Amino acid sequence: MECKEFQRMIPDFLEDELDNRDLETFLEHIEHCKNCREELTIQFLVETGTKSLEDGKSFNLSAELGNLIQNAWQRLAFRKKLLKTALGLQVVIVAEIAIAIALSIIL
Ligand SMILES: [Zn+2]
Repeated sequence: MECKEFQRMIPDFLEDELDNRDLETFLEHIEHCKNCREELTIQFLVETGTKSLEDGKSFNLSAELGNLIQNAWQRLAFRKKLLKTALGLQVVIVAEIAIAIALSIIL
């Protein structure tokens, strides 16, 4: 994907509206792309920074942005785990149904 596409994802990232796959690609790109990180910083500052300033809170841009990215990684890991659990449960349910069918045939 091109930087332009990543930069288009920034508002969705800030709103936490990216799906797992997009979020992972986005986070990985942001890690090593200076341009996109800069763009994210600017949009983040506009989005959150102005809000914090209005509230009269002090605002540490690089710390806040670091937190944001850290949280996004954690969210991603959590969602992936959840997805795996859900898949695991489905397998169990399918196995139980298969057993139930097999039993009903035998009985
Ligand atoms: Zn980029």
